[in-house]
Order: sequence, then structure tokens, then C-alpha cells
Amino acid sequence: MSHNRIHNFNAGPAALPTSVLEEVQESLLNFKGSGMSVTEISHRSKQFDDIINDAVERTKRLLKLDDRFKVLFIQGGASMQFCMIPMNFLGGNKSADYVDTGTWSTKAIKEVEIQGKKINVVASSKDKNYSYIPKGISFNKDAAYVHLTSNNTIKGTQWASFPDTNNVPIVSDMSSDIMSRPLDMDKFGFIYAGAQKNIGPSGLCMVIIREDMLSMVPDDLPSMLKYSTYSSKNSMYNTPPCFGVYMVQLVMKWLEETIGGLEKMDAINRKKGETLYGFMDSSDFYNATAEPDSRSLMNVTFRLPSEDLEKKFIDEAQKNGLGGLKGHRSVGGCRASIYNATGQDAVDALVDFMKEFEKKNG
Ligand SMILES: *Cc1c(COP(=O)(O)O)cnc(C)c1O
Repeated sequence: MSHNRIHNFNAGPAALPTSVLEEVQESLLNFKGSGMSVTEISHRSKQFDDIINDAVERTKRLLKLDDRFKVLFIQGGASMQFCMIPMNFLGGNKSADYVDTGTWSTKAIKEVEIQGKKINVVASSKDKNYSYIPKGISFNKDAAYVHLTSNNTIKGTQWASFPDTNNVPIVSDMSSDIMSRPLDMDKFGFIYAGAQKNIGPSGLCMVIIREDMLSMVPDDLPSMLKYSTYSSKNSMYNTPPCFGVYMVQLVMKWLEETIGGLEKMDAINRKKGETLYGFMDSSDFYNATAEPDSRSLMNVTFRLPSEDLEKKFIDEAQKNGLGGLKGHRSVGGCRASIYNATGQDAVDALVDFMKEFEKKNG
């Protein structure tokens, strides 16, 4: 069963459940007796219809989405959404509120500015190197939407709860924490997530859109850049990334049938976070970089006493079967990404290694 797989702490593309990969492997040459791989089947076939519809239905059940919400699959990763969102929702003279919590938020803001659309950056945590989530923000009542990044993959911070926005719909980049916890969908008009962190392979983005948001889409956009095109064609206006959608379907099945839903997933993730942060809080050698009330349960960023020790730590961890612990190149340090598919066993193994490393080098 182990297939010599390492404990994978990569930030993205990242670990997927081994059972999902085994099912993909098993079906690779002959999907359900069709004599074909999923990548060789027509996207107009009954077989593929069943795959995409099951992926959508499972997503709806997991997040308890009511019928107002549509689940779409769009190519171009999460980054494509940075430009599509203002194109679709800031027609006319509309304006949006953005919260800047680091790299990905900053990129989302830049893509609005390129288009010359109006936004207000209503809060930023740049003053402290993005180590916290801003509080007590006042939002504009007439904003078309409020954009925020629910989990900051690079800075290691996460919104523990979502702010009150005067009923202005929240548009959230959930690339690195989608499906990690249940959501109160009343606040959200739009959610997007590049698949490669928590739900599948890179290249496709899951989009969840509330129907009324579709009425904001201007007519004069190119078809491929309009949410209404994807919504009216069940994400199959053109050929969708079929294999990626198939893998997302299997991950949703794993979440429902093996994990038992998002409350259970959340409890597992909290325990993992407590194990790792709890250990670091008891040590003077490892220092978590995010402020305690803003800590991410998905990307745990931390520093050691020196850069030399960090390098040694990352190298030795790799030799001990613990991979992907290097911080993002823009911030340095260390980062353990502990997404859904990286289990408590991996976190326990990491903490054991950290204790040993501290003993020898502290
Ligand atoms: C990885 C990531 C992105 C970029 O995703 P791509 O699919 O590479 O475009 C955007 N936002 C967040 C929060 C991410 O973690």
C-alpha cells in the first residue's frame, strides 16, 4: 500500500489522497469497462457527463449549496480569475472592495488596476509583512463585491471567520483552503479555487457562483471570458480539462465517503494544526511567523534561528522522507503545507523529526 510515498508537505501542486491516485491508476487504461482512458473519452459522452455531474453534485452536498449556486470548471488556474472577476462584475461604473493580505491578493488587485476598473483597497496587512488578517474593516455599502483571499498560501495566514460586509457579496480566492472546512454560504457570491492545492491537479479552477451574480456579466465580453458561457453550458462550451475534472470528482468522493464530510475534515485539520503549532509554541527553536489568531491550518510558515539551520533542516527532512518544507522563494524560511490529503501521521512524523533536529542543533 505504501508505494514508497513520502510525507508530502508541498504547497502546490500538492499531496492527493493515495486511494484517489490508486483509483486513477486502476482506471487509466480502461475506465469502467469502456476500453478507454478518461482522457480518450468524448466530453459529449454519457460517461463524461456522469463524471462532471457527480463532481458538481458532490461539491454541492459537501458545501451544502442551495440551488442558487452553480459549480463551474474553468481553465487557466486561479490566476485567470484575477482578471475575469473584474471583467464580469465591474461593468459600467461599478467599484469593488479588496483586502490585501499578501502575494495572491496583491496579484488580484493588480489585475483590476490593469483594466482601469475602480477598486478600494479597504485594508492591508502589509505594515507587518502580511503576518496577520486585518480586523474591524469598514466596507463600502455600494461596492459590487468584496474580494478576499481566505487562506494566504505564502504568508501562512487564514481568515478564521469571514467579516460582515453589509450584505455585499464576498468574492473569495479559496485556492488553498477550499473543502478544508464547512462554510456559511450566506456571505458568499463567488468562490474560486485553483485545484492543485486541495482538490486535484493544476490547470483547472473550481468556481462557485451565486445565480444573481450572473446578471452583472456584460454582454460584450468574449465568450470564453464570461461566466454565463460556462454556466449555461455546464462548463462544456468547449472541451473541458476532462482528466482534471475526473480527479476532482474522485477527491470529492473521498471527502464524502472516506472522510465523512467537511465537519469531519475540519476536525482533522484542527488537530493537525494544534499538533504542529502547539509543538512550536513550546519550543524556542522554531518560530511560527503568523500572529496566533491569524494562523493558517493549511500552510504553517516558520523560521529557525538562522538561514543556515533552515537549509540544513530542509535537506535533512528530505532525507528522512519529509518533502516540500522550503518556504516560498519570496519569503524564505520554512513552510509545512498540511492540506486535506496530508494526514495526522505526516504531521506526527514531522514533529518527531523537528524534536530530534532541535536536540542535535539547538
Ligand atoms: C496557488 C494560488 C494561486 C495561483 O493558482 P494558479 O492555479 O497557479 O493560477 C492563487 N491564489 C492562491 C491563494 C493560491 O494559493
